[in-house]
Amino acid sequence: MLGLMQDWPLLIHRIIDHAAVQHGGRAVVSRSVEGPMHRTTYRDLRARALKVAQRLARDGIGPGDRVATLAWNTWRHLEAWYGITGLGAVYHTVNPRLFEDQIAYIVNHAEDRILLLDLTFVPLVEKLAPRLPAVERYVVLTDAAHMPATALRNAIPYEEWIAEADGDFAWVPLDENAAAGMCYTSGTTGHPKGVVYSHRSNVLHALAVNMADCFGLSSRDIAMPVVPLFHANGWSFAFSAPMAGAGLVLPGAKLDGASIHQLLEEEGVTVTAAVPTVWLGLLQHLEATGAGLSTLKRVVIGGSACPRAMTEKFERAYGVTVSHAWGMTEMSPLGSFCSLKPEVAGLDGEALFDLKTKQGFAPFMVEMVVTDDAGRRLPWDGETFGRLKVRGPAVARAYFRGEGGAILDAEGFFDTGDVATIDPHGYMRITDRAKDVIKSGGEWISSIELENLAVGHPDVAEAAVIGVSHPKWDERPLLVVVPKAGREPTREGLLAFMRGKVAKWWLPDDVVFVEAIPHTATGKIQKTALREQFRDYRLP
Ligand code: ADP
Repeated sequence: MLGLMQDWPLLIHRIIDHAAVQHGGRAVVSRSVEGPMHRTTYRDLRARALKVAQRLARDGIGPGDRVATLAWNTWRHLEAWYGITGLGAVYHTVNPRLFEDQIAYIVNHAEDRILLLDLTFVPLVEKLAPRLPAVERYVVLTDAAHMPATALRNAIPYEEWIAEADGDFAWVPLDENAAAGMCYTSGTTGHPKGVVYSHRSNVLHALAVNMADCFGLSSRDIAMPVVPLFHANGWSFAFSAPMAGAGLVLPGAKLDGASIHQLLEEEGVTVTAAVPTVWLGLLQHLEATGAGLSTLKRVVIGGSACPRAMTEKFERAYGVTVSHAWGMTEMSPLGSFCSLKPEVAGLDGEALFDLKTKQGFAPFMVEMVVTDDAGRRLPWDGETFGRLKVRGPAVARAYFRGEGGAILDAEGFFDTGDVATIDPHGYMRITDRAKDVIKSGGEWISSIELENLAVGHPDVAEAAVIGVSHPKWDERPLLVVVPKAGREPTREGLLAFMRGKVAKWWLPDDVVFVEAIPHTATGKIQKTALREQFRDYRLP
């Protein structure tokens, strides 16, 4: 016997339709790439998204075709996502911070037919264009007045391009399992691999992250995703905010502490999200200026481990709740949030901040297990670490074009490549990426835990821990430190600070001071580059 409820495919256009009807006047505020602030509403954004779809159709784009974006978070980028998916085409976000070879590789691999780009990236794309034979048209996300002279194929300013459509267009009916978006993950070995989201996975994922223990967005929130739309599906903000009717503030190209602070205050932002390096910039700005945060209630921090010192600073000094989150491109991307279950709600002081260094528990639609190398389930005792595997309707089951082969185990779980513990209450802690874990005398040392500890020292701006080879122990930890401006921490001082806070044999064998630590295209510490830099380092 079948249920007798309606067939209502979970399609992305339903999100913006809903926002336009129920929250039509809600503000979508952007810092434009041209400079001035720009204000629109969900109602107008939907109207322009229809023009995008109509114009794409006129350019010969149809269901399944890929349209690339190389763009910051602005209203134009957002309405383009809705226009592209509303036609059944597939948005492919390209991270402009990737190496040029990687950008050329993924645009060709995805066979992007149209490329939408911000003014910022015109010189970059001009350089790459001869290597992108399949791109038929370049649309510069600006108006005619700001359009630079360019020889890019069929180049046109976005405003002129959509002005040729009147918006009298109907969203294309689709199967909810149709592809909607693509994002390439940097991958540990070989070429980047394409993750392909569906309409259904994006809608379900947005519902999941809007639950109260996750983003918990409501129509009373004003959300500012500082995390770019090109980083791991933009952490779902393009869908979760309009679905909830939350206002949006989009920071454009300026992600420094002062610019972010200005938007937080002037636009009354209540929820924001980004990787720790962004918040490092904001906190430094606040410290230098003595400014505060008057409207912000919650900050979601993920992408790499949120150091305890950062949580403490936000919560104690500025009264902002930190929501530590974990996820990955393959998971749409959110997989866990560290909010407080009643079982831990009584914690306070140090114990609370200890808990908040964990990446949290999985919401509905994410199943999580930790296993040993043979695939045997490990206990949820908060101590035993193993491979973290996940399953759910917004988790990848394969990469684009079958790259990398079969990626699920016999039970349908995807191996995240992360090493983690899960405690009896379900709180997961990432101890490392499998490839970053330090193997000392057959035992594992968590580089993340040592880094968290080191950045708690008042003279340390940023810290990374890598394994360097050791004749007796195989590998031993080396602490690499960027001192805060004007401070001079010492090796002895740092080691004394860490002593007693971790097992003695975990203490780094040495400390080196550097001016900067290399970062990946998504703002994470680039451990591979650091390991290369210190490959021949002789420990004392
Ligand atoms: P990229 O590394 O290219 O940015 P992803 O965004 O998909 O790609 O990275 C996902 C990985 O980032 C996870 O597998 C995990 O190793 C790491 N990560 C994400 N969030 C956290 C977190 N809160 N704590 C520790 N590691 C994290």
